[in-house]
Amino acid sequence: MAATLERMVNVPATARVDLAAIRHNVGVLRETAVGAEVMVIVKADGYGHGIVPVAHAALAGGASRLGVASLAEALTLRRAAVDVPLLCWLYGPGEPFHEAVAADIDLSASSVGQVEEIAQAAVRAGRTARLHLKADTGLSRNGVTAAEWPSVVDAALRAHADGQVRVVGLWSHMACADEPGHPSIAAQLKIFAEAVELAEKAGVRPEVRHLANSAATLTIPEARYDLVRPGIAAYGLTPIPGRDFGLRPAMTLTGRLVNVKRVPPGTGVSYGHRYVTERETTLGLVPLGYADGIPRSGTNLLEVWAAGRRRRIAGTVCMDQFVIDVGDDVIEAGDEVILFGPGDRGEPTAQDWADLLGTISYEIVTRIGARVPRVYEGSPA
Ligand SMILES: *Cc1c(COP(=O)(O)O)cnc(C)c1O
Repeated sequence: MAATLERMVNVPATARVDLAAIRHNVGVLRETAVGAEVMVIVKADGYGHGIVPVAHAALAGGASRLGVASLAEALTLRRAAVDVPLLCWLYGPGEPFHEAVAADIDLSASSVGQVEEIAQAAVRAGRTARLHLKADTGLSRNGVTAAEWPSVVDAALRAHADGQVRVVGLWSHMACADEPGHPSIAAQLKIFAEAVELAEKAGVRPEVRHLANSAATLTIPEARYDLVRPGIAAYGLTPIPGRDFGLRPAMTLTGRLVNVKRVPPGTGVSYGHRYVTERETTLGLVPLGYADGIPRSGTNLLEVWAAGRRRRIAGTVCMDQFVIDVGDDVIEAGDEVILFGPGDRGEPTAQDWADLLGTISYEIVTRIGARVPRVYEGSPA
């Protein structure tokens, strides 16, 4: 570990991931949702933090299950010897469901066709598939509409009777849980309760009923049921901007200045000369660009922390680099710049970037590119 860190200290940019923060955040979620299991969502490479280290930190923090979008992500976790229940839910026809069943990965079904395809995969794998039936309670994305729900439940019960599947979960996903009081929240809770009741009356005996993302876990007690599925909160970012739930942001994105120079007034900076110096000044070059996930729309807009202050990006964000203008402050090549982090030293947070860009913190952290090494702190990774 020490050797790894030392080697990483001299790379031009790193995303440091504080695994102790992830454990802390999962602890907060557990305490909030007492009585419910916690399934931490680690899709999209653990929201950009690194799927396998995040998975271990989440489990160490008290999660008992993990969730991902794709089959490939779930198989990655199994190959890394993660042996807790894993759920995945986003796939089309013809994907290797038999491999997922063989690896004991829980699969979601959102149609009769999907129930049948998974049942056939179970026959091929020689093992019972663990199935979660997904109701569309108002997000209109994946899931079964109320009209189709009875036929999907029937199909699952037939496959259950044949020994091909076991229905272990009934679930859904919320559209506006991050807007407390939104009328769709009560509507979705009601439709979900009805879907659960119908399935249970028909004979389904699920291990878990689950509906709550981070925002619902933290603010909607009735949505917690047997299991909550937080993602963003586990990484320490608030699902409801402006509300602080005692979470600690886990990712700190840093770069080291690769060039520093003094330039005269009137100097055009970066492509298109969208920034022109007003006086003699010092420019520093940061080796991170839009290929690394720094939004090009952050040109002349986003701030970073350098030499003890926030500085706005000066000019166009390029593919691999951008420039900052520090005036007469003293900087040298090799100095560390913090792009975003937990905010305790004054640096911007991912939420600050999201606010400036008109997006959500999820997009800021998940888009950090593969070229940026992730360095783990805070526990054995
Ligand atoms: C991404 C996702 C979550 C986690 O959502 P957060 O808002 O990050 O907590 C939970 N469930 C499903 C189905 C998801 O796609």
